[in-house]
Amino acid sequence: MKKEPVKIKELPAQERINSFSEVVLGYSEEEALGEAGTRLQCKNPRCISGCPVGIDIKKFIYQITQRDYSSSYFTIRQKNNFPSICGRVCPAEYQCQKACVLSPRDSPFASQEAINIHFLERFVGDFGMRHFLKVGPDNDERFSKFKVAVVGSGPAGLCCAGELARSGIKVTVFESLHQPGGVLRYGIPPFRLPPEVLDFEIGYLKKLRVEIIPNTVIGKVKSIEELFKEGFWAIFLGLGAGEPSFLNIPKENSCNVYSANEFLTRINLMRAFEFPKFHTPLNIGKHILVIGGGNTAMDAARSALRLQKINGISPDVSVVYRRTELEMPARRLEIEHAKEEGVKFRFLVAPKEFKTDSKGFVEGLVCWECKLGPPDESGRKKPLPQEGSEFSLPCDMAIIAIGLKANRVLTGVSPEIKVDKYGEIIVDPQTMQTSLKGVFAGGDIVGGEGTVIEAMGMAKKASQAIKEYLLRL
Ligand code: FAD
Ligand code: SF4
Repeated sequence: MKKEPVKIKELPAQERINSFSEVVLGYSEEEALGEAGTRLQCKNPRCISGCPVGIDIKKFIYQITQRDYSSSYFTIRQKNNFPSICGRVCPAEYQCQKACVLSPRDSPFASQEAINIHFLERFVGDFGMRHFLKVGPDNDERFSKFKVAVVGSGPAGLCCAGELARSGIKVTVFESLHQPGGVLRYGIPPFRLPPEVLDFEIGYLKKLRVEIIPNTVIGKVKSIEELFKEGFWAIFLGLGAGEPSFLNIPKENSCNVYSANEFLTRINLMRAFEFPKFHTPLNIGKHILVIGGGNTAMDAARSALRLQKINGISPDVSVVYRRTELEMPARRLEIEHAKEEGVKFRFLVAPKEFKTDSKGFVEGLVCWECKLGPPDESGRKKPLPQEGSEFSLPCDMAIIAIGLKANRVLTGVSPEIKVDKYGEIIVDPQTMQTSLKGVFAGGDIVGGEGTVIEAMGMAKKASQAIKEYLLRL
């Protein structure tokens, strides 16, 4: 039986753009019971197959209806280490909710009618946080002598570290930035994922005696070989895909043209929105263009708009995207939020070249209008720039958010770890072991930009394989 979905509470658009406070406020108990209880009639749920880690969705939602939130939490935790995080950032409309029986099969993403699985997951995850529910350590004696190094502290690294530490393995995480969390810290803004949620999960890892060593670039400060010499029995690489892609068009390196990575890192990790309390300035423009159509573009556009507002500038942020809204890979919720907040969209527009003033500062973007052709290798319709359609968009700041790729800082100096033509690490898909014995990998460095839950799924698989590997030594 289908009932109206329970809408989640959100900060009003005009209020939210004045700060970086969280936008989605979550379900109350009553609302969660409403969403869970009235909509659980399906005999053959398909949603589980849509979740990359196969959470028993029907069971955890049933446990909500029984007000047994602790059991519901542990049902999710069997497969997902960070429910409060996934409940906030999972692109569920492309995953579990798309597979929901209430979503039309031919739709590219979930319909409004699908059950709000990720909001329910967030409700349960936050219950778990409030009540300090944790999957305790196994402390398996067989593992007590082992030390494992984890390189990178994004969701893959943190998930792997937690799984190993629970078994009694001594884990050290090396992170190149000064704070742990990877994209969860430096990429996704606080209005989507408050840092306190991440800090809570990291706090628990520390309780499991996971040591996190920041400011350490493995491949520069020390090599894989040196880690083995230091006594680590195995190594997990959760390096992410941290190198921004660029358009490769004229004058792209002009002043005030940023990669979204740098822009978001300055804001989220270095708190540029609290300047001068924090020391990182950002020369925020009056007319800002964001190029791209994914989550990163939405995060950059919404952050830029907030920064304009905070700095007393009348908001003017436009997203330039070469396909239509339907093809945008961003979460649907983020697109809706961006629109509500006043971000403008220019669809079917492809950048041709930047224009600059006499001092080298960007002052415009020359674009082509596009039409959509047959699907390209990504499966989406290919944008075809139209000859003679050039026009200019004025801007004094541009942010390029067209994707990320593997950085080769570590793999470039460790040729024994085989990578593919994109620089992504090649692994055995069963064990996530690389071509170098004792070195495992997972997350975006394997297979390219993915999602948080996919990164954690790979890390969990790797942690199991690492334990089996250690027991064979
Ligand atoms: P990362 O999160 O990239 O972490 C890798 C870490 O390794 C980094 O901290 C890096 O500094 C460190 N590192 C790299 N090399 C070294 C080295 N040599 N030595 C030491 N440390 C190193 N996914 C979603 O599911 N939902 C979303 O809403 C969403 N929004 C996104 C928004 C943005 C702006 C971006 C960029 C991505 C988003 N994603 C989203 C994708 C998601 O964040 C990634 O798929 C996920 O973070 C990958 O996890 P990871 O652990 O593999 O890598
Ligand atoms: Fe859905 Fe993501 Fe939760 Fe899996 S982890 S059930 S895909 S919201």
